[in-house]
Amino acid sequence: MAPLRCPNCARDFVRRIARSGLAEMLLSYVYIYPFKCQLCGERFRSRQWGVRYVRVGEDRREYDRMEMRFPLTFSGQEITGEGELLNVSMGGCSFHTAANLMNGMIVRLGLQISSDVPPVIVGAAVVRNVRSGSVGVEFIQWQHSERQRLQLSSKRLLGRRE
Ligand SMILES: [Zn+2]
Repeated sequence: MAPLRCPNCARDFVRRIARSGLAEMLLSYVYIYPFKCQLCGERFRSRQWGVRYVRVGEDRREYDRMEMRFPLTFSGQEITGEGELLNVSMGGCSFHTAANLMNGMIVRLGLQISSDVPPVIVGAAVVRNVRSGSVGVEFIQWQHSERQRLQLSSKRLLGRRE
């Protein structure tokens, strides 16, 4: 199946979101589901013939920001650089860098969670805010396996047992 594209910005960083209201409940019976573009925020509906999704239960804990320090690298079409992580959640992170990142840039990240394992790769992250010396990005596309590696290492670093 071809990747679903945002009708507004035509990129494919699209995520299915929870149905809201009776109309969307009913539409899902004819395979029409709500989606949101993670880049521009456009909300739209699209028909996914024959696709039945299971209910999405968002785990809020995934979006708790954890203070963690480790090096990271980033690379995009216009820029390559490195920085130091300040905090991270499964939805994004903030880091210190001297590089000149700008809002809306899309970068690939390598999070060096430990010196003895390969970095966790976030395939695409969009720069959301830039302050003096610190940058906040939102993760918009990464492999499930990389996400799991970050989750495991953050639990270990925080000494949590679950
Ligand atoms: Zn869009």
